[in-house]
Amino acid sequence: MAHHADHGFPAVAARPPKVWRPSVEVNLTEHCNLSCYGCNHASPLLAEEFLSVDAFIADFEALGQAFHSGELRLVGGEPLLHPELARIIAEAKRIGVADRIVMFTNGVLLHRMQPGVWELLDEIRVSAYPGVTRRLSDEDCAASAKRYGVQLEITYIGQFRQTLLNERIKDDQLVASIYRDCKEKGEWSCHILRYGKFYKCPIAAVTGERLRMLGIEFHENPGDAVQVAGNPNLREDLRRYLADERPLAACAYCLGTSGPSVPHRQMNRAAKIYWLQESHSPDIEATRVNVHDRVARVLSWLRSHRCRRGRSNPKAHSAGAKRSG
Ligand code: SF4
Ligand code: SF4
Repeated sequence: MAHHADHGFPAVAARPPKVWRPSVEVNLTEHCNLSCYGCNHASPLLAEEFLSVDAFIADFEALGQAFHSGELRLVGGEPLLHPELARIIAEAKRIGVADRIVMFTNGVLLHRMQPGVWELLDEIRVSAYPGVTRRLSDEDCAASAKRYGVQLEITYIGQFRQTLLNERIKDDQLVASIYRDCKEKGEWSCHILRYGKFYKCPIAAVTGERLRMLGIEFHENPGDAVQVAGNPNLREDLRRYLADERPLAACAYCLGTSGPSVPHRQMNRAAKIYWLQESHSPDIEATRVNVHDRVARVLSWLRSHRCRRGRSNPKAHSAGAKRSG
């Protein structure tokens, strides 16, 4: 059989395809202009900090060597607070780590978003919270989106899911179940690149910082994130990391997407301090019940599905009857 060497060409080893996921996120700011109780990015607690354009370029150029996603989500905190938002989006487009650029915002500052930013974005997803004033009405927002060819989604959010914990879940089985069912790292693809490290979810990326505020010593496991810059094995590391079924150290302080719902509310300074101190034992117990109910529902569905299949397949039914007889 002919091969490259027969024609005098050097054999070129095929590079494995890039790792693909539906999305990757980046916090453009750590802080926010709102203080939502239950914010799972912990923004009401984090310092005022803006991602530098240089850090963004370095991180995403490195990631783009090994990874591609359907969308790059600009999140925070509140991305519209970033003074160099247009530059970052332009760089994101140039680097091309994702097919589309999507910005998540609480919408409070949309009325002053520059035309240049509208022109660059593919989609804006607005989280509209009760009692929070947005000066750009939904209709005006829709009109601007149409003018600039931007896809727009406005979601009214009255409930948050309790996620971040001030105490450790001591039951490893429960941690494993929460992790297994966690949509942040799964179907929602909320992976995040933060300060040169790729994490499965934004919660894990800030857990150390948050727990330090509580005086809790926290150490990531060695495999809880992938170092992106200067990593010659980035593709393989990302592939292995995303397929790894072991919970992260942060999962012991998180209810993932299994926690109870809580009504949305804005916090003042005193409420933020209380948020850092409140006991989450009742939420852990409520999650245990949620997880248990979910498992019971799946088992019951499987049992009834098996019965129905048995009934709708006369051969299987008679074979079963013969065996049991
Ligand atoms: S608007 Fe979003 S980022 Fe800001 S505090 Fe609320 S949930 Fe967190
Ligand atoms: S820390 Fe674990 S359980 Fe929580 S969102 Fe991340 S992957 Fe899911």
